[in-house]
Amino acid sequence: MEHHEHKLGWGLVGASNIAREWMIDAIRAQAGNDVAAVMSSDAARGNAYAATHRIPAAYDSLDALLADPAVDAVYISTTNELHAAQAIAAAKAGKHVLCEKPLALSIPDARAIIDACRQAGVVLGTNHHLRNAATHRAIRQAVLDGAIGKALFARVFHAVQLPAHLQGWRVNQPSAGAGVVLDITVHDVDTLRFILNAEPVDAVAMTPPSTLASGTVEDGVMAVLRFDNGVIAQLHDAFTVPYAGTGIEIHGTAGSLIGRDVMTQRPVGEVILRDATGDRPIAVEQENLYHRSLAAFNGAIQGRGAPAASGEDGLRSLAAAWAVLEAARTGQRTPVVLS
Ligand code: NDP
Repeated sequence: MEHHEHKLGWGLVGASNIAREWMIDAIRAQAGNDVAAVMSSDAARGNAYAATHRIPAAYDSLDALLADPAVDAVYISTTNELHAAQAIAAAKAGKHVLCEKPLALSIPDARAIIDACRQAGVVLGTNHHLRNAATHRAIRQAVLDGAIGKALFARVFHAVQLPAHLQGWRVNQPSAGAGVVLDITVHDVDTLRFILNAEPVDAVAMTPPSTLASGTVEDGVMAVLRFDNGVIAQLHDAFTVPYAGTGIEIHGTAGSLIGRDVMTQRPVGEVILRDATGDRPIAVEQENLYHRSLAAFNGAIQGRGAPAASGEDGLRSLAAAWAVLEAARTGQRTPVVLS
């Protein structure tokens, strides 16, 4: 039988921090994968980025990157308002699409990305990395195994200090989809959907006066989401508190799962099961979250399984984040709207 080695050339859409810090390495960790090109709206910065990261080509337009035959797939990590148009253009050019979260800034735009990728027959993934964490996968499995009986409540602790180099548009550019809800809450929602195997129905929320972000951009939030399996989830997200620590807890009729230091990009943290017999750690084999995301995406391209988070996951997690924003703005309990 003829054997074709799996090769995948990636085009980076956006000369971003996240690509530099995590994704270039994750791409190169996959057999047959490499970064073929980078696109930056600033040619000089794009060239410098390409040189620093040994990327063979730099373009200052998306069309030019998409015309490069060495590009089979794109990783989109531009600011959030650009994701939809770029993802749709890539799909139309026949490229597989791994897009950063939030998938888009509106539900119709997210739907348009999903439709364009389906029509083009290309794989679409949303880079909700936390699903790939060994800790969250262990929590999900324990819930599925009935370790805590019936799950009733969840608490997510994801209030951090946003590092100075990531502030910029996240805290001062509403048109780019700034704010803690589209940055962090959207991840919490996706993680809860993954762990609980349930969908959020509605939200209440409050935001404090901003201290780091400017204008109407929120830099902290406390929200409560109700899921369709009856679970009530409390979320605390912020850009402004360095010492709060992160975690997730799922509380059920027969036990509680407690994840400490798990709302993070790094493969760290611990999971404890607390029940009638006391506290005991659940063993987790830590693994780079982004490597696992890329491995699943490669598998999907080769007809094995699906991306860790699909386009539909991106859309649904975005919809719940919008419900949180709207609930905070109006003070009203707000439904999650999927259209
Ligand atoms: P960056 O601010 O690093 O990059 C976003 C865009 O800003 C780039 O596309 C680039 O534009 C421009 N840019 C970058 N650096 C500079 C600079 N020094 N001077 C001028 N312009 C610059 O964004 P992040 O990497 O923090 O985030 C990008 C996306 O990834 C967002 O959608 C975010 O939500 C998501 N993200 C996801 C994470 C995850 O773990 N899943 C973690 C962090 C971010 P150009 O394209 O024109 O070069």
